[in-house]
Formats: sequence, structure tokens, C-alpha cells
Amino acid sequence: MFRRTSNMTGLSYSLDVITMLKHVDMWSFDVFALNDASGNHALKIVFFELLNRYNLINRFKIPTSALTSFVESLEMGYSKYKNPYHNLIHAADVTQTVHYLLIKSGIMHWLTELEIFAIIFAAAIHDYEHTGTTNNFHIQTRSDTALFYNDRAVLENHHVSAVYRLLHDNEEMNILSNLSKEEWRELRALVVDMVLATDMSCHFQQIKAMKSFLQQSEAIDKPKALSLLLHTADISHPAKCWDLHHRWTTSLLEEFFRQGDREAELGLPFSPLCDRKSTMVAQSQIGFIDFIVEPTFTVLTEMIENIVTPLIEETSRSELPVFRQYSTGSDGKQSSMKSTHSEGSCSLTTVDFKGFRGTWNQKIHQNRETWRDQAGKVSHRLCKFPHLK
Ligand code: AMP
Ligand code: ZN
Repeated sequence: MFRRTSNMTGLSYSLDVITMLKHVDMWSFDVFALNDASGNHALKIVFFELLNRYNLINRFKIPTSALTSFVESLEMGYSKYKNPYHNLIHAADVTQTVHYLLIKSGIMHWLTELEIFAIIFAAAIHDYEHTGTTNNFHIQTRSDTALFYNDRAVLENHHVSAVYRLLHDNEEMNILSNLSKEEWRELRALVVDMVLATDMSCHFQQIKAMKSFLQQSEAIDKPKALSLLLHTADISHPAKCWDLHHRWTTSLLEEFFRQGDREAELGLPFSPLCDRKSTMVAQSQIGFIDFIVEPTFTVLTEMIENIVTPLIEETSRSELPVFRQYSTGSDGKQSSMKSTHSEGSCSLTTVDFKGFRGTWNQKIHQNRETWRDQAGKVSHRLCKFPHLK
């Protein structure tokens, strides 16, 4: 039933898990199925697999015992509040989505190994110990965390701070122990920037700033580019296939409704989308897609084309192109990050901007239409039976 698949991590995966990991490079990757097959360890599996594939365990001499202890604690932190949405499956989903964006868009060729490590690490930790309530709820209820962070990016500050404390206080979990001082500082700066930028209150500013960067054709700032990549992955489920998107929406709304129940108990007004009796799910999702998700993917894709096109041109001019590479199997075979030949889906010569744009565009379109159908049915029912309003 079980096969040892990795010399580096010493993890044994079931055959089901091995089969599922074959799809880790795909947009339609089913993280829920991986979570079921792995006994609620989707985050552990995805994190190990990607560190291994990008050869980061070797490159940064990550002690495998520390990696195991760290990921176990990470998963425990994600399970602390038993959230329907902000749990270890969401963290695994965002980490796998970041990986897809890195390889399919070609942007991984623009990044150093440290930057790739930073974004995978940031994705895995970005909602650590999420309480299942929003920043606004923390502020309104004057929670300890809100008091501690002066009402600013309350949860995001906690996610990154609590993880660094974990590494700092427990040497046996310190996966960063063999980084040089400079590497450690650079990684930390990037991780702090990226996780803080997942705060939705930064969204419009982040999009506006990137748009103006692109118009002025200025060189794009690496931390800003990485932050936009992580933010996009964080809100990407409306661009996935309907079954995945619908499941994420139901989980997120249940989390919001539980907050609404607490707001009612405390005599506070309902936060947006938190009243289980009156929230119009389909309409709110159409709004989220139109105003948030689609513009984010559009700017991200423009940014990527801006960055990667010159790299492709440079590669086609040079005789011995240099590709950044990662190993595509979960058999533990390591491949060098830098190589002189291409490999499968992650070579610069196979980057397909049109295909990349088409994938998310098509799913967004289909999901919007499905929500419109559902919204139409509800309003039709309400017209026929006004007493149901
Ligand atoms: P995070 O809390 O880091 O997962 O940031 C993403 C935020 O985006 C969530 O807290 C939600 O507020 C919001 N979000 C994600 N998906 C949806 C959705 N389908 N509808 C409404 N809000 C969403
Ligand atoms: Zn998140």
C-alpha cells in the first residue's frame, strides 16, 4: 500500500497520494481529494513535494527532521479553530496554485532560488492560526490580537509573526537554520511583505500600483511581483473549475455565517456576507468575480507577460539557453535548478501565454454564468412566491 517516495524527506506516500501528486502541475488539481487520501495532511504533502521538486531542501540544507516537526506544527496551527475555510486545505491549495503560476507563466525563470523558497514558504504559512473571523471582527470585539497589532492587518501580522516565533523558540523545527545571515534576512523581508499583502484591505492599492508600474514600463519590483502572485493565488478559487469553486464558496460562507452568529449574540451589526438568513450568495460571488478576481488575474497576466517576454527573447537569441528547472516526479530524484536543457512544462520555450490566460478566463466566465443561472432561478422563485422573500 505504501511506497517510500523520497530519500530527502523520508516520507512514505500511499499509492493514492502518489497518483494525485501526478496532477500537482495542473490548474484542476483536486486538493480536497489529496487531503482525503492523505488523512488530512494535504499541506504537509504539498509543501514537502514542492520543496523537493524545486530542490530547495538540498539548496538550503533544510534538516529533514526539522521539516517534519515544522510542518506538523503548521498543520496543527491551521486546525486550531476548526475553520471551514481558513484551514490547512486552503493553505495547501494556495501553495499548489502558486506553484502552477510559477511554472505555467514562466515567471519562475525570473526568480532566484531564494525567491522561489520565499513564495512557497509564504503561501504555506500565510493564514497560520487563522481564527475564522475577519480583521474587522477582531477590531470590533477588541481582541487581544487587535490590541497587540493596533488594529492594523491584525490577522496577517499574527500569521507571519507566530510562524517566525515557532521557528525561533523551537530549534528542532527551525527549517531556516542553515541559511546564511543574508539569505535569512532577505527571505524574511520577502515573506513579511507577501503575507501582509494578503490583507484584502491592500487589494485596490496593490492593483492600482501595479497597473501604474506597467504603464510607465518601469522595472518591476520583485517583492511587489511576488506579493501579487501570492494574493492572486489566495483569491483564485473563482477561477477554478465549478466543483472546486463551489466547495470553497460554501466553506467560506459557512465561516462567515458562524461569525454572523457570534455578531448576533454579541449585539453587533452583521458584517458583509455574515447574515445566514439574508446573504445573496450567487450575487455576492458575481460581484467578487467582477470587481476583485477578474481584474486581479488581468493585471497579474499583464505583469507576467511584461517580465517573461524579454526572457523568452533572450533565450531564443542565445545558443545555449539556461533554464531554471525542477524535478517533475515525486520519486525523490533531484534535478538541478539550473540546467542547460528544458524539461516538460517548465521550460521558457514552452511558455504559452495564450493558454495561461485562456485557462483562468474560461473558468471565470463559466463560474459567473453558473452563478447568474442560480441568481436567476432564485429571483424567479421570489417573483412567483413573494412570501418567500
Ligand atoms: P485570506 O483571508 O488570506 O484567505 O484572504 C482572502 C480573502 O478574500 C478572504 O478572507 C475573503 O474575505 C476573501 N474571499 C476569498 N474568496 C471569496 C469569495 N468567493 N467571496 C467573497 N470573499 C472572498
Ligand atoms: Zn488565504
